[in-house]
Amino acid sequence: MLKIMVTAPGRVNLIGEHTDYNQGLVMPMAIELAMKIEAVPRQDRRITASALPLNRQAAFDLEELAPVSGRPRWIDYIKGVCWALREAGYPVPGADLKIRSSIPIGSGLSSSAALEVGVAVALNALSGTELPLLETALLCQKAENQYVGVRCGIMDQMAVALGREGHALLIDCRSLEYSHIPFSPEGCRLLIVDSRVQRSLGASEYNRRREECEEALEQLAKITGRSFPSLREVKPEDLREAEGRLPELLFRRSRYVVEENRRVEDSARALRAGDYAAFGELMKGSHLGLRDLYQVSCAELDLIVETALAVPGVLGARMTGAGFGGCAIVLAKSSVLEEVQARIREAFQREGWREPLFYSTGAGAGVTVQRIQA
Ligand code: ADP
Ligand code: MG
Repeated sequence: MLKIMVTAPGRVNLIGEHTDYNQGLVMPMAIELAMKIEAVPRQDRRITASALPLNRQAAFDLEELAPVSGRPRWIDYIKGVCWALREAGYPVPGADLKIRSSIPIGSGLSSSAALEVGVAVALNALSGTELPLLETALLCQKAENQYVGVRCGIMDQMAVALGREGHALLIDCRSLEYSHIPFSPEGCRLLIVDSRVQRSLGASEYNRRREECEEALEQLAKITGRSFPSLREVKPEDLREAEGRLPELLFRRSRYVVEENRRVEDSARALRAGDYAAFGELMKGSHLGLRDLYQVSCAELDLIVETALAVPGVLGARMTGAGFGGCAIVLAKSSVLEEVQARIREAFQREGWREPLFYSTGAGAGVTVQRIQA
């Protein structure tokens, strides 16, 4: 009997925050934490799934798939993938799925995209469908947007599907062009620090930022007499022209986005040249922009970054993800990782905050599939 084993990693964004919905540049990488999905074919039209980390089982009929209206459950991500594959005209076979994972759930490391991409790749391997990974990522994004009902960009699914060991993935969210950028700093690791803060504020502020960016575009058009399809097309000189006339808040928001796109370009250049010190500086700039101009950081993330940067051997640090909680990343010499963790723990203790969680990683591989004939 045919058995499929898929490994789908989580991801973290190295730089390029809040640029995705502004048609800009992002640079995530796959991490070493991953989900493993075992799939065997069934003769009927059912999918059964057991999620070992959650100790849950569920099953459904492939002929009865309808987008979720209420709160999504874990099985809805799998249903969504089946639905999106079928909508796109690909065959979806019955299967038994077994899921194991070392990716923390709901921490911003994209366990959801790992699940979607992993299931899509497993089902395609069972049915013999050869779907390019970019298209797989797009179908998974559609599953999450339209079936599960969660608004997300394309970064997560692309990073999981197209990540490459020892490389970051530079993505142009306007054209969906991507390229692999070397990321293997010698003697260094990337420390992911989960603040364990989840502010309900997050979702409403996220939507507010999106509206502010749209508003800034309209005003910029009025002021300059030219139209900009997105903030991606706005140049620093356009902003200078509008300074003083664009409301201060909108000016700050647009300035951050314009500068962050620039920092991603500069990062790609620095990493290609193996200049990790320069990349570290760009991480710091990104954090300051997110804190002061875009205003999506919070006290916990600021403290992680500030504490880490005070340790010699730390090259850079920044919050990552949408903000108001979630994770920060620290690029540091492996020899100081313990110290960085200890200092962050102490700093949190002093504030009386819950202890953060730590994961250290290099740039991991994207999704892989193994076929076993038993
Ligand atoms: P994340 O930042 O981890 O992607 P999300 O809220 O986007 O957080 O997605 C988390 C959801 O993905 C979980 O609530 C669950 O429905 C699903 N999920 C993630 N990992 C697993 C797993 N190992 N087994 C089953 N479902 C999972
Ligand atoms: Mg997710």
